Amino acid sequence: MKMTRIIYVLLLYLLTACNASVQSAVTSIKPTETLLPLITKTMTPVFTRGVTPTEDIRETLETVEAVENPIIPMISSPIEGKAISDLVDMISNPFYPPVEGSDDPHQGVDFSDVDNLSRIALTGKGVQVMIGGQVVSVMSNRFPYGNAILIVSTEDYLPENWINNILSSKKPIPWDINTALTCPEGWNFPPEKQDQLGVYTLYAHLLDAPNYEIGDFITPGDKIGAIGMSGNALAPHLHVETRYGYIADLTGSMAHYDVSASLEEMLNYCRWRVSGWFRLIDPMEILSTN
Ligand SMILES: [Zn+2]
Repeated sequence: MKMTRIIYVLLLYLLTACNASVQSAVTSIKPTETLLPLITKTMTPVFTRGVTPTEDIRETLETVEAVENPIIPMISSPIEGKAISDLVDMISNPFYPPVEGSDDPHQGVDFSDVDNLSRIALTGKGVQVMIGGQVVSVMSNRFPYGNAILIVSTEDYLPENWINNILSSKKPIPWDINTALTCPEGWNFPPEKQDQLGVYTLYAHLLDAPNYEIGDFITPGDKIGAIGMSGNALAPHLHVETRYGYIADLTGSMAHYDVSASLEEMLNYCRWRVSGWFRLIDPMEILSTN
């Protein structure tokens, strides 16, 4: 009888212990549950602007994303219906980096949708985002980029081998060269914060002004507009220009070479094109990574 009582007490103790461990397991699952909605494609990630997600959150996001969305690539073709491997045939003006501080040569890549029979470049083909990120500038018929959108991608949005590429590239620093451009005071000032680098991608000469706002999050493959010839374009094409610089170093519209350009637009343009704080990357180099 005494033995039965001891066994009973022991069993009771074990049951209580199990309950306790189950309780703590449930508590530790909670953060994952709250993070799950962040990675579904239809929802906007809720990273606070300018704040980097902590290492732990990033790891959880990547793990969950790998299970839920195994087929979403980190890099997408910028032209709707065209594979990345087909893009070489669409280049109408290749990347031709300028002398440091100069606004000449071709600082991006032009893609044209040429009709097979007439050999005429067409408007209207869908333009989609290459790398996910956050909108920092939307331009509505401003010269020279026309209707355009600028998106910045932090490390979280870049393939791992690309992050290594960025780290091994030349760090953004001022070129300190007398540019031929007229630039408002402050165009070459150092960025206020120099703690995080990112890749900036500009899509220009679109048919219409992109229906996005500064701060919007965008996923690779999202449609941002259609090929047009707004701004400084002699024929319909998409101009893609990629640079890397510090996060939050440029916000708002850019314009130059036009009397309607505001001082702020000119300052942004000078900073982007000739200051040295935004180092050029060949867009085809990014597209060949995956
Ligand atoms: Zn171009």
